[in-house]
Amino acid sequence: MTDHLSDGILSALADGELTADQLASANKHLAECPSCTSSALYQSLLKSATARAGHRYTPPPQLRERLALLAAQPNSQLPPRGNRTAVSPSRAVGRFGYLGWAAAAAVLLVSLSLVFIQRAAQKAERASAERAALVTEVFDQHVATLADSQPLQVISTDRHTVKPWFQGKIPFSFNLPQGLPSDVTLDGANLTYLGNQPTAQLVYNIGKHRVSVFLRQRSGSAEARELPAESSGFHVMGFSTSDLEVVAVSDADPVRLAELTSAIRQAQMGDRQPTQ
Ligand SMILES: [Zn+2]
Repeated sequence: MTDHLSDGILSALADGELTADQLASANKHLAECPSCTSSALYQSLLKSATARAGHRYTPPPQLRERLALLAAQPNSQLPPRGNRTAVSPSRAVGRFGYLGWAAAAAVLLVSLSLVFIQRAAQKAERASAERAALVTEVFDQHVATLADSQPLQVISTDRHTVKPWFQGKIPFSFNLPQGLPSDVTLDGANLTYLGNQPTAQLVYNIGKHRVSVFLRQRSGSAEARELPAESSGFHVMGFSTSDLEVVAVSDADPVRLAELTSAIRQAQMGDRQPTQ
């Protein structure tokens, strides 16, 4: 048998915070270790009791009944719990008969899977809400730029003027494409904020259509931001690099907008990975 699960792993397990790989290996161990199963069950009950106040996770009534039933079974001989001493749930161990262990393990796995699924759903929900907020924000800022009588903060068609203007103003750097698709011009840029993060807003024209391209530092997991989106004839599209999140918005033809977005993406790759 492999080593017992650490308290950290048990805690993460009960929180549904293990990766799929970690969960698989923990499950494998639990399937053959009554001691860790008791500990995991104890942690899980403790956490769900704590979480109930915050309504974060409520075990279904059938699960509670099942656990009550198991806990009521007579005491019998459990194998020794190894040399782990910290936070030993001796009471929980003592109350679970050895015969009940397999059933307890099954119930535990079901309850942990529920937590795991619930966490994944919450994560997806959060990502989708973040995406909606981002789209709304870039849309509003672009419309404000179109309507604004104020000139851009830096007005230049020269990328060698626009890029250095941001130095010291934003906590990241980016590249501007050397060659632009036909009929595309750079107008200038603004320093702005998206979600309270300093953001570079580059303003281009595709023919007569204005384009705003927002660049900001990539935060955490930008993985699930499924752009493009469309709203009132405006198109929103974007991409992430290892350190940047880029979103473009315009009422221009989406194919032309995609060309410009792709040129900007190429420019980020070009400098950072010169071998490719
Ligand atoms: Zn174990």
